[in-house]
Amino acid sequence: MAEDKRKVNYPFAMQARFGGLPKSAMVGIIVVCLGLAVLILYTFDDTSGGSDLDVFEGELVWVRCANPDCRQTYQMDKKKYFEQVQKQVRQSPASMGPVLIVCEKCGKPSLFEVVKCGNPDCGLIFRRGAAGAMDFADRCPKCRYSQTEKDREEAARRRGR
Ligand SMILES: [Zn+2]
Ligand SMILES: [Zn+2]
Repeated sequence: MAEDKRKVNYPFAMQARFGGLPKSAMVGIIVVCLGLAVLILYTFDDTSGGSDLDVFEGELVWVRCANPDCRQTYQMDKKKYFEQVQKQVRQSPASMGPVLIVCEKCGKPSLFEVVKCGNPDCGLIFRRGAAGAMDFADRCPKCRYSQTEKDREEAARRRGR
């Protein structure tokens, strides 16, 4: 019963809110909303069985433990890392901020992803996004190197040729 009521009221609510907009703009907004809904559903799909993580098979990710008694920094399987992250997100979907997973060394839920600087002369390990939200997440706070930026520059050069 409640389900039917929502279905009836929804288009009217949309019309009231976007009543001043041309029809094409409304259609655009609805298409974007639907696209986002599909994307969210796909991302948190429980039935996929984690097969979408197979692309990370064999890749490694750097992690660091925030537990002051541990503070270990090590590499772990990227697929395993994202499996843990997904599990964590499912358990507490409303929690904000970086996802902490269980540390393999001390067993505390205080492990987070870090980035190793791609500059061979530096190699600093730092928190992802240390350079701020407006910069590349892998920008090194020490030497300002960013692998993402370098990859993009190289891709742009290849296109230019
Ligand atoms: Zn630990
Ligand atoms: Zn660096």
